[in-house]
Amino acid sequence: MTERELTSILGWPGYKVYRHEIDEEKRALRLWVRRKRDNKILICGNCGGRAGRVEEVRERELRHLPCMKYQTWLMVEYYRVNCTKCGLRTERVDQMPGKAPFTKDFEDEVGLACESAAVRQVARCFGLAASTVRAIDLRYPVHALRNACRERSDGRRLPLHRQKQRNARAHQLAQPRLLW
Ligand SMILES: [Zn+2]
Repeated sequence: MTERELTSILGWPGYKVYRHEIDEEKRALRLWVRRKRDNKILICGNCGGRAGRVEEVRERELRHLPCMKYQTWLMVEYYRVNCTKCGLRTERVDQMPGKAPFTKDFEDEVGLACESAAVRQVARCFGLAASTVRAIDLRYPVHALRNACRERSDGRRLPLHRQKQRNARAHQLAQPRLLW
């Protein structure tokens, strides 16, 4: 598969895959990802304002959604930027929101699985420690909204399929807006 095709499959706006490795024995896929040349808007990770210059280039390794039977890791290039308000800061990249070594897509998948299965089952399925799954579930965007969604305005509980519809809607609403 070409890097161009992998870029389409990854589907991160403004980012491209520029190298990949497949380890057939370990069933692992590793993709190296960086900004496309025309993606020049830099956002300060601290204040959310436009940042000026790139001061340092760094790389993070993140677990991503599996690709067929292959576990997938991304090596993502990101910047330390110069913000006029905050000084030297790490840029904000919506697809890797936290300090944990997981992409947002991966965390969303784990959070979604927690909606319908016990933490221990989810941990086994994703090959993670139960404590890691619990931490991801707490960060899941709909976690705070979930309890609110379970009740109707008259205080009666919704049937399960209606809860799921509402949760899906809440999840959509909780998605950050893309900047490009
Ligand atoms: Zn700033």
